[in-house]
Amino acid sequence: MAKVVIASKLLALISNTISNDQGASFRQALETIIPKMDDAYRGHDDPFRSHLGASLIGKKCKRELAYGFKWTKIPSFESRILRLFNRGHLEEARFIAMLIAAGIDVWYETEDGGQFRVIDIEGHFGSALDGIVRGVPDMPLVPMYAEFKTHNDKSFKSLVNNGVEKGKNQHFVQTQMCMYSYKLEYALYMAVNKNDDTLYAEIIKYDPKIAEWYLKSAREIIYNDTLPERISESPGWYECKFCDFRVNCHSLVIPEINCRTCSHSKPLDTGGASWKCKLFKEPIDKTRQMKGCLSHLINPALLSGTIAVSGSIPNNTVTIEYKGKQVEYGYDLIPLMELINET
Ligand code: SF4
Ligand code: SF4
Repeated sequence: MAKVVIASKLLALISNTISNDQGASFRQALETIIPKMDDAYRGHDDPFRSHLGASLIGKKCKRELAYGFKWTKIPSFESRILRLFNRGHLEEARFIAMLIAAGIDVWYETEDGGQFRVIDIEGHFGSALDGIVRGVPDMPLVPMYAEFKTHNDKSFKSLVNNGVEKGKNQHFVQTQMCMYSYKLEYALYMAVNKNDDTLYAEIIKYDPKIAEWYLKSAREIIYNDTLPERISESPGWYECKFCDFRVNCHSLVIPEINCRTCSHSKPLDTGGASWKCKLFKEPIDKTRQMKGCLSHLINPALLSGTIAVSGSIPNNTVTIEYKGKQVEYGYDLIPLMELINET
């Protein structure tokens, strides 16, 4: 594990800047930055991401990531969680504003006003970038990828005591993937404690071995029809308890009907995050993927606890075995629903 390098000069500079003018330059910078945070006030919501997120690839359970990439379930969050996400977007503006007020160079949008993005694995893997900075007093000449995060009190304390790699490994991996993508040797990781607004700043060095390992893992999740192993066979395991796909993973339920859950869909390695329908032998764009069609055939890997016994191409059906019983299903899901009800 690499040594933790705190950006202490940067933290002191921010503190002095804000105290010296009682926050005036910080607030003025906020006036410019807040309107740029589109994610904080967008009026629509896209239930499914096209790509596998670089911000998630460091999660411990790869199976959870595969469920998400295969659009197994429409995400639905309670109000508190949605406000929590929104706070994260708004806090990004505050980080950028405090850096600008402190005289740091910050690039947070492309020339046409869009977000910097990480794109890899033929477009199937990526993330938006918080920003790129230069002039951090701890390493003044070095450009760095910048990542901004909010933490609750417990998580923030763990970060302070252990550093990002040990205290919040998922964020550490995310910074590695973004450094890899932008060919940057260092990242500035900044965090705020939502309990009392204490700041944390660490400089993270790029480690190509970590980035390559996670890219390989992402490639496997994207291109495999099957799912990775569970991290636990018990739905009561503490990490499973908080997983959005707990029900899909630990019991037999019917997934969402769309092209990503269909046996006939296939991500292509030709670029542009493209997908193909193997049945109709044609490309399927995102709008069509979300609709699916009447030839939909659930990927049996998404039917937890079942074993695929055989498939019939002319009938467009699959026969599965579950708890000693066999059923054949196709677009008609009644046999599957009866099986779920009986067992
Ligand atoms: S329920 Fe547990 S094993 Fe299953 S995907 Fe979620 S975290 Fe992984
Ligand atoms: S058969 Fe229909 S649902 Fe399945 S991948 Fe093709 S278009 Fe999508």
